[in-house]
Formats: sequence, C-alpha cells, structure tokens
Amino acid sequence: MPLFEYECLACHARFTEIVLPWEKGKTIQCPRCQGTRVKKLVSRFSYHQSEQDRLEKIDTRAPRDESYYRDDRNIGLWAKKRAKELGVDLGPKFEEVVEKARSGKILDEYDK
Ligand SMILES: [Zn+2]
Repeated sequence: MPLFEYECLACHARFTEIVLPWEKGKTIQCPRCQGTRVKKLVSRFSYHQSEQDRLEKIDTRAPRDESYYRDDRNIGLWAKKRAKELGVDLGPKFEEVVEKARSGKILDEYDK
C-alpha cells in the first residue's frame, strides 16, 4: 500500500494518506485544520513490514545500492533470499551471524 505520512505545517498534526501512483502531486489536506501546507515524513510503514515481507520484496538480481546497506535490517536478508532460491539451507549458524551483524556485535568480534 502506498501509504505516506505527513505533518501539517500549520497545526503539526500527523496523519497518513494513501497516495496512489497516479495521484502523485495531489494536494494533501490536513484532516485537523484543512491546511494544505504539509510535509512528507519518512514513512514508518516500511518499519512495520515483517522480515517475510522484506524477503519477498528483494530482487536478488537487482543491484543493491549503498542505501540498502545503510538499513541494518537488510543485512543478511539478501543472502537469505538467495540461499532460498538456490535451495541452500544456511542453518541456524547463519541466523546467528545475521543477528550479530544487525546488532553491530559482529564488529566487536572482528575488532579483537
Ligand atoms: Zn493542520
């Protein structure tokens, strides 16, 4: 769902709007004060996706840019998906490594 969060610049109300692809550029109106000066916020929507959803969405053939890796939650997902496609069982050890990578603990270990 193309959900976007906005903040009204007049009354600072935050609200979510569904903006369909063909509605890009439509005027967003604040539900509280009817103001139309709104600012788009970084959507919280993606944060609510389950890992399963994220796995589904990864295209392992598409190039991954830098921003992909800036998101800690993406670490390991690509490898996981790729392994799944290849029918490889990475096993619990892999999960462990991914968890460490995401939490940053893996860096501690490599520092030693
Ligand atoms: Zn408002």
